[in-house]
Amino acid sequence: MTSPAPSHAGRYPAGSLAFPHRGLLGIAGLAPHEILFLLDEAEQWVELNRQPHKRDDRLAGLTIINAFFENSTRTLLSFEIAGKRLGADVVNMAVAQSSVKKGETLIDTAMTLNAMHADAIVIRHGSSGAVRLIADKVDCPVLNAGDGQHEHPTQALLDALTIRHGKGLSRDSWFNGLTVTICGDILHSRVARSNILCLTTLGAEVRVCAPPALMPAGIEAMKVTPFHDFDAALKGTDVVMMLRLQQERMQGQFIPSPREYRYLYGLTPDRLARARPDALVMHPGPMNRGIEIDSNVADLDGRSMITRQVEMGVAIRMACLDVLTRRARGVEGWA
Ligand code: ASP
Repeated sequence: MTSPAPSHAGRYPAGSLAFPHRGLLGIAGLAPHEILFLLDEAEQWVELNRQPHKRDDRLAGLTIINAFFENSTRTLLSFEIAGKRLGADVVNMAVAQSSVKKGETLIDTAMTLNAMHADAIVIRHGSSGAVRLIADKVDCPVLNAGDGQHEHPTQALLDALTIRHGKGLSRDSWFNGLTVTICGDILHSRVARSNILCLTTLGAEVRVCAPPALMPAGIEAMKVTPFHDFDAALKGTDVVMMLRLQQERMQGQFIPSPREYRYLYGLTPDRLARARPDALVMHPGPMNRGIEIDSNVADLDGRSMITRQVEMGVAIRMACLDVLTRRARGVEGWA
């Protein structure tokens, strides 16, 4: 197939120089124009996904394997929907029933996937760096759907697209002048890490807020301002991004009790009132209602972007799959 890529005359370098990477392993290392390119590419899919007929067959004949070694609802489903809406054959590897459970090494699994001639592999894994390990062993593009505490790049991209839509920013706008506060378990969160990289690259002021035990040492080096006092962090904030306590990654006691955590770090209506009156509320899911976020904030009409994030997730994943398979499809300018 040789359908030409949409042209964004002058906004990015031409053809594959707009996104010269083989895969999407993280936000680290992406230039601002590369992030904006993916956001712009996703806009056409936001439109398509709102139509009754949601199909574009540009990936017809291609095989995409989703290999999720860790649980997922939103990410797995939206990668599956994204691939299918673009006409690809999408296969979800059932890890629980696979030879991984019999002790097969990650490298052997990677070599097996490679031998099946997949055109893209989407991987989620509990260990930071595991996705890169597989990417180094296969011939096709690899997309990181979350690796340990390291990165979750498509989450950060969908969050940026949600902010662009929620704040009514034009495509030419970067995020300068916007203050985003990310609150919760920063220490264990790949979502926080990818979002910090993405938002600061686009020019936003980023604040991170967590109890001392859940704040990574030296986080200032990521060009963010750390807070332990949530009320202080919220002052003047345009976007509040809440995170789940990642109990599965905690060894030992990080918080005194869920009730005390909610008291100090839960997003309640009173607390939200300390942010700007039009501040947006975000959460990557899954939410623990009544702990990091109250239901009447999570469901706040016009302010809560939580279902919008899910919508943008499908569009972003369609954009990533389309862009990363252009070289293999021989799209003009992507040889
Ligand atoms: N769904 C996100 C992730 O996979 C956030 C979370 O699990 O809390 O990292």
